Amino acid sequence: MKNITILGSTGSIGVQALKVIERHPDHFRLVALGAGKNIALLQQQVKKFNPLAVAVRDERLAGAIAQRFSGTNAPMIFSGTQGLIQLVRLDQVDTVISAMSGAAGLLPSFSAIQAGKDLALANKETMVMAGDLVMREAKRQGVAVLPIDSEHSAILQALQGHCRDDLRRVVLTASGGPFRSHSAEQLKNVTLEETLNHPNWQMGPKITVDSATLMNKGLEAIEAKWFFDLDMDQISILIHPQSIVHSMVEYRDGSTVAQLGVPDMMIPISYALTYPRHYDNDLFPLSLETVGTITFEKPDLKKFRCLALALDAASIGQSMPTVLNAANEVAVSEFLAGRIRFLQIAELVEKTMAQHVPYPVEAMESVMEADRWGREKAGSLLSGLC
Ligand code: MG
Repeated sequence: MKNITILGSTGSIGVQALKVIERHPDHFRLVALGAGKNIALLQQQVKKFNPLAVAVRDERLAGAIAQRFSGTNAPMIFSGTQGLIQLVRLDQVDTVISAMSGAAGLLPSFSAIQAGKDLALANKETMVMAGDLVMREAKRQGVAVLPIDSEHSAILQALQGHCRDDLRRVVLTASGGPFRSHSAEQLKNVTLEETLNHPNWQMGPKITVDSATLMNKGLEAIEAKWFFDLDMDQISILIHPQSIVHSMVEYRDGSTVAQLGVPDMMIPISYALTYPRHYDNDLFPLSLETVGTITFEKPDLKKFRCLALALDAASIGQSMPTVLNAANEVAVSEFLAGRIRFLQIAELVEKTMAQHVPYPVEAMESVMEADRWGREKAGSLLSGLC
């Protein structure tokens, strides 16, 4: 029996993770729920799963939960980032699913590892910002950090039964997003609505925008570097519009092992909780005869500048990936609010990176400092965009 805390329970991954837990009541027990702002859904989840504790990131909203649930069976209620940290440290918790969106997920994820809990990680910012610190701490604590990301789940599966020393490279696949076939000229005028209409995956708004700019794939390359202890030149990226091959591992004899499946996050969520086993779910199995043709092509780094910038940041290293991520979060939230255009996302990230002098990140404080710097700088550059 695994006792689970979900951070980000009202988001897309959190909601699906609850379905996995519900599907296997003999294997999983929900202990605690952490959420951001969606109090209505959180209340429904508390009612249904009766957790021991709840944390609401927005402190002003915690009172609403406390009011609704009181009495002897009421959950403990925490608030703010500190509240999320209290949640992951509970003695009753074995595994933390970290599924918050953005840099806000970093400290709670890291705290889970420090508290000796296994981590199922959907919050890729944790790895982008502090992958080195995270993996070192996980090793020190002897805990597992397993990916909830279809590409990294595919790589983990393709590594099973092989000798790690024989690995030559990994190939991350990318759908290419809704604008894969757009010309540079067409990209100038794409709308928010078009950007949020991803062809294959149902996800939250931040990651859907990142998928359209291909920033998501750049963040995933950095994530893969830390998850699997790779050099950046061992990571290749291929556009694969059908999203059936979720990623591949190439070994030194040229053998390439891929993981295939329908594009549904239930599979990687479930695998992170059941690794190395595969449990039943209620998905339709992959029908390759229906898919028919699968194709692969190289990404266009000139057209999708965000991907190029993320790969640059990864090779510069130190505080640069954190600054890239911070600037991107500012840019995406401005884009979602309708205040900047699609191509200005890359422009803002590039201008912020150009002003950053990278420094080593040897402790969480320097990571947080780089994050603050990146946000402030990006904010100050907004008014000067082309
Ligand atoms: Mg992914």
